Amino acid sequence: MSPSASVCGRLAPSPTGYIHLGNVWAFLLAWLAARSAGGRVILRLEDIDPQRSRPVYTDAMLEDLRWLGLDWDEGPDVGGPAGSYRQSQRGALYAAAVQRLEAAGLVYPCFCTRRELRQLAGAPHLDDAGAPYPGTCRDLSAEECAAHRASGRKASLRLRCPSEPLCFIDLALGPQEASLVHCGGDFALRRSDGVWAYQLAVAVDDALMGVTQVVRGRDILPSTPRQLAILALLGYAAPQYGHVPLLLDGDGERLAKRHQSLAIRELRQQGADARRIVGFLGWRAGLLPVKQTASPAELLPRFAWERLPKDDQLCRREDVATFFA
Ligand SMILES: [Zn+2]
Repeated sequence: MSPSASVCGRLAPSPTGYIHLGNVWAFLLAWLAARSAGGRVILRLEDIDPQRSRPVYTDAMLEDLRWLGLDWDEGPDVGGPAGSYRQSQRGALYAAAVQRLEAAGLVYPCFCTRRELRQLAGAPHLDDAGAPYPGTCRDLSAEECAAHRASGRKASLRLRCPSEPLCFIDLALGPQEASLVHCGGDFALRRSDGVWAYQLAVAVDDALMGVTQVVRGRDILPSTPRQLAILALLGYAAPQYGHVPLLLDGDGERLAKRHQSLAIRELRQQGADARRIVGFLGWRAGLLPVKQTASPAELLPRFAWERLPKDDQLCRREDVATFFA
């Protein structure tokens, strides 16, 4: 059976640590959503941040995903029509996209430091999407920009955000509407250290790689209106989005790199069985009635958006210890 040309999903890991159960949960659901629709799957490495990405994790990540039974039609190890599947090698494409936005008058330099932004916004921390931005540098004159540069400040580049609300139908959550003005305002396309912003790279890559379906954790939902804005301003069609519940630890915390004991690498070293890990996740996703062993391919006929849980799912250490080995 040749894969349908209509659906193209993607797995987009960041090589900032070993992948853990929380990553695999989202990747498994993304893979099932695309494959169950007869679609293609792309693997793209989101290694755009040179300070956080480590090449050592890349090979481990691909190997762990294959060990679990996931596969992909295009990726850094198998190639494909998109050329490079590593964001760190796609900078020229992001630069070209920003040039187009600049030519349309939609980009401006921002000289605010992270510290100033924190103080301005009263925000205790910067999330992935950046702190809310009050528009301080939106209308700086050429002289003011020159003065900032002369004082040694480096500029980030911000997108002049559209004021209209952005609407989309989420595959898991239903109709969504968000206004960029009310959720963060003008956001960065390039950081002041020259690193391209996550929002820009993801939107450009999804468009240029022909991705039509983006399935990812609900924690990324606040980024979606930003990516929709970039896609629309560049004249690209938006993919369909599905934001799935998260896998949480026994304390209700989002699984993260600090949960080393739930890293696939660690579980493998302890002798865990891939079919048990996948079966556990399939059970948590409502695709299996009880905890049992399964491969991703065996879950395919059971996948349906209606079956997925509405709430985040707990993954306790005890569950893992007793079931995986
Ligand atoms: Zn600014």
